[in-house]
Formats: sequence, structure tokens, C-alpha cells
Amino acid sequence: MAQQRISSPVLYNKQPFDILKYTFSIDLTEAPKPIAKQAINTITFTWTDNPVEKKFYFHLRDLTIDSVLYNGKSIQFYQEGNIDSADFHYAIDAPIGAMKNDIVSLSIYYHGIMGSEPAEPNSWGGVFGTNRILYTMGVGFHANYVGTTQHWLACYDHPSDKAAFKGSFIVSKGKYVCSNGLLTSIDTLENALRFNWETNIPTATYLLTFAIDSFIPYQFGSKTNIVYGLKSDSSVLQTSYKLLPKMVDMLERYFGPYPFEKVGYVLTPTGSMEHQTMISVDQSIARKKDSVNSVSLHELAHQWFGDMVSPIDFRYAWLTESFATYCETLWAHELKKNTGYISDQQAKLSSYFSSVTREGVLSLDNFERKSPSSNYPSTIYVKGAVVLGMLRHELGDDIFFTGIRSYLDKFTYGNVKTEDFQQVLENKSGKKLDWFFDQWIIRKGWPRFTFDTTSIIENNSKKIKITCKQVQPKEYGYFKNVPIELGFRLADNSYIYKIIYSNDAESISMIDSIPAYRSMTINQGPTLRTLMQMVSITTINESEDFNTNQIYTYPMPAQDAITIEYPLPHNTCIGDIILIDTSGKIIKQLKKEIYSSEGFEKTGLFILHISDIASGNYTLTMKYGNNQLSRQIIITR
Ligand SMILES: [Zn+2]
Repeated sequence: MAQQRISSPVLYNKQPFDILKYTFSIDLTEAPKPIAKQAINTITFTWTDNPVEKKFYFHLRDLTIDSVLYNGKSIQFYQEGNIDSADFHYAIDAPIGAMKNDIVSLSIYYHGIMGSEPAEPNSWGGVFGTNRILYTMGVGFHANYVGTTQHWLACYDHPSDKAAFKGSFIVSKGKYVCSNGLLTSIDTLENALRFNWETNIPTATYLLTFAIDSFIPYQFGSKTNIVYGLKSDSSVLQTSYKLLPKMVDMLERYFGPYPFEKVGYVLTPTGSMEHQTMISVDQSIARKKDSVNSVSLHELAHQWFGDMVSPIDFRYAWLTESFATYCETLWAHELKKNTGYISDQQAKLSSYFSSVTREGVLSLDNFERKSPSSNYPSTIYVKGAVVLGMLRHELGDDIFFTGIRSYLDKFTYGNVKTEDFQQVLENKSGKKLDWFFDQWIIRKGWPRFTFDTTSIIENNSKKIKITCKQVQPKEYGYFKNVPIELGFRLADNSYIYKIIYSNDAESISMIDSIPAYRSMTINQGPTLRTLMQMVSITTINESEDFNTNQIYTYPMPAQDAITIEYPLPHNTCIGDIILIDTSGKIIKQLKKEIYSSEGFEKTGLFILHISDIASGNYTLTMKYGNNQLSRQIIITR
């Protein structure tokens, strides 16, 4: 018989028990002080396997256990694992006579001071009290145990075992308690109030929460869309949540009916976190009067991705964050059509490349968590959102969206791992997607390209041959079928767009019948953004239309990089590339010494990285012997 092992945050292990419901009661009359005067959690579970010599596990941190009752009778409990380990927990042995399919009621009595993940000053998960609010966050960014509900609820704190929840919170008069599910009643006690919240829909423990302050429920469009804020928040919330009904409509249109009893938000000093039906939203965001409110949209999208369908363990956190982040792009599309879609994907792509310098190069699936990474690195948000955009391009809109719907239907209120998502899409599309999941989700990194382009004029139209080489670090491996959208700027400044595909070390693409064009953009088109970088482009231009007295720069305005297309007259040495600001100060100077070769006209392309330069107007100058060519450029971000 295999030894029973508790599930780790990053390793699911099947257990011989299944939790059905948590029935919880806590005296928080000292709130906002984080004091649990007395707490009782009754765990209703069933033995799903023969329990002889088996254990039931639960987690609890900081708090002191007074007693544990198994079906009303006192039972021994003991600690397992080091307090510093990810798996620190309590266990009880199945008592003699316990049988498979027994429904057990295990009551845990405890008290003490509730705490948070040991990551000061960056502690994010756990229980926090300020001078007015007491609230919880269900995950930590740094704790090795990830789920932080164990700082207040004695529970099997692992996303694989979802259960119904009934929470009774006793607080002093004048306070209001927000929690999961529906508020079924408020009982008036002698010197206190008891708020009874309940959901019968299975909930992962990291999605349970409470928040206590003098909250007022504000409704938006329906009595099941509620934002809990303070009295003074009344008018700001009218702006910030004006579009909440539209957000719900959009997500329902893409992903099916809203899966829970209510849409709830509560304003908390930190956040934001997708607690099921009671999203904790960072109050500074909720008070911004920004009706676009992408953060609230993101957390709402989690109700489908993460809450209704939860990762079986935290290796698969990308299955929640990538989708919620991609939904921000869908929201940008909802508000601003394709312009919104593309600019949001572009922003996520730029954000990914800047995150890499902070947290390193990570995979989406089973990513590295050690510092400078964390339990929730930016990669699983922004790289994930761009990868989903590429997956949509690969599958087409219909299969992409109906595939996601099938996946959500199949795993409603359940748990998933990466293979489950892949398999549903493969069934739907009839395509093998190993290569896609392997290169974008399992592996880390992205392709870097060099282009050698040769263009040949024929009857006033161009034929272009592009030799694309992948030159990324070896450890990333080669990438297959990578779409690269090229834009050709014509004399009238309109564009023609073509998508070519890069495959492995070297691939050749032919583009036929392009009118004579001035310049080319890469990965800047209207269809998609690809996770990629250009290293260099060599252009051999056989056309006559390129003005040899001018340099071209694009895009304009520029954000992270400017492509400079410059003439290479015969036998001329090109000197430095200099960027000067409006006061005449040199901001950047690059040595560039190129001698053009004999033969046909040649133009060169150079990519100047400018992410370290402030927004503003600049003059770009290239020296040609004793002459120079200049161009005005604008940097905005
Ligand atoms: Zn999220």
C-alpha cells in the first residue's frame, strides 16, 4: 500500500477523503484587531477509500487548537512537518471502525491572534487589521505554502478539495461583515451582531474570505451585483462600477452564464484578489473613478477561470491568471474594438519584456518561484495573455472560443491541469497541439529573429524573399509555426499586411506582388502580437524608389524601440547615430561604422532601443562623412 502523502502547493496527491462542507463560526468582536476569541470549524467529509490506517489532514497557522471532535467524540490530533515547510499541517488517524463512505463531522475548536505570510514588508496573504478594517487575502506572493486561508480557517487548505462554506461572524455593533456566497441573516445578540454567509457551491479554500468594516452594499444594475464600500464611497463607486453590468454581459457572452449566487466586491486596503463572489478590490483602484476598471474586470473573469474551474495545484496558476489577463484584452476590444484589442496586447507584450529584467525568464506551467520570482510572477499574467492571443490566431476564433466553453463546461466547479485544457482544444480542433503547449507554455523564453530580405522589382510590384533565422539562446529551443505580421508602408502611407511563419533554425518565406513600399513594420499589425524580438534585419533593395537622401524611422510615435531605415550610398562611411533632445543635449550616441559594398543600391535597418529614454521630441542624426541626415522623432509611453 502506497504511503499517504498530503498534497503540496505544487504537487497534488489524491487523498482518501473528500470534504463536502465547512461550517464555521468565529468571535471577532475585537475587530479590527486580528483576535479570534473563539473559533469552531466543523468539517463535513466522507472517506472515499477504506480509511484503515489512513489520516485526515488540516492546516492552521498561528492559532492554538483547544480540541478536536470526531463525530462529537474527542480525538487525538498531531502536527506533521516543520512550521517553515510548505506542508506544515495537522493530522488525525481514522478511528477504529471508520468505514469507506462514512460521512464524518470533524469539529476543530481554536483561538488566538491571526497572522499573515512571513514576508514583511511584502506580506500580502493572510489576515490584516488596520485601525478600522480587518480583512483577509487568500494567497501569499512569497509564502512557500501559497494558500493563506489557513491563517484564519482550520481547513484542508489546498485547491484540489473544494467544499461548500457557511460562515458565521460575530462582530461588535456598527460593523458589517462581507464574505462568500449569500448573506442569509444577521442575528442580533446581546452586545454584538452575527453575520451568516453561505454558499452551497464548491469553493477552493484560497477563495474564501471575510472583511469587516462599516460597509454599505451598493447595487449596480441588478440586486446580485454588489460593491461593498464605505458611506463616503457612494459617488466614486457610481463612476468606477458604472460598467459592471456590461462587464458581466461580455463575460457571459464569451464564457457562459455567471456561475455563482452573486457578483460581489469589497474595498480593502490591499488587493486585488478574486475571492469567490466577494472580490477584494484594492480601494485605491476602486476609488480612481475609472469606469474602464480593468482590475475589476480581471477579478470578475476569475470567477470563471480560477473559481468555477480551479487549478488542481498551484503549478497551474497560469490557467487562472493568463485567462483573467486575456479577458482584459477582450474588455479593451469591447470598449474600443480592434484598436483596443491590439493596443492592449501590445501593452502586455511590452510589460512582459520589462518584467523579465525583474523576475527572470520563466515558463507559464510549473514556473520557478524562488526570488526574484514569486508565487504570482508577472509572466503568468502578461506572457500568458499574449500566448492566448497567439493560440486564438492558431485555432481561429470559433474553435478558440467554443473550445474554452467546452473546457469550462467539462470542468464546472472542478479542478484542472494544463493537459486538460490542451486535450479539450485538441478534441475540438482535431489538431495536435503538443508543439504549441510545449514551446509557449511548458518551455520558457521566446524566439529572436534575424531577417535577410531581398526584394526584386517586377512590373512595378515587388517580390520579397525573407530568410528568417532563430537566434535565441539554445536553452529556449527552436519554435515552430511562429506568426510574424509584416506591414508594408506604401508611398501614400497606407499599409499592406502579410503574415509569415518562422519554423525552427531557418525558414524562407516568399511574399509576392507587393507594390513598391517605403518601409516595413514587424509585429505591429492589426491581427495579433507575437511573443518575439527582432535582432537584426539586412535589406537588399533592388528598387529605385528609395530616397537616398532621407532616413525613415518607425513606428511614430515610438515606445520601446525605433526602427531606422537608412540609405547606404556607395563607398561611404556612416558614422555615429546621435539622439538629441530639444535643448540640444545628446541623449544617446551609438558608434556605427558601415561601409557600403559595391554593386546595387543598399539600404540598412537598425533597431534603436529607447525604453530608457523619457517621452518627448528628439532629433535623430546619422553622420555620412562630412554630411548628415536628420529626422524628428517622438517618444511617448
Ligand atoms: Zn488574477
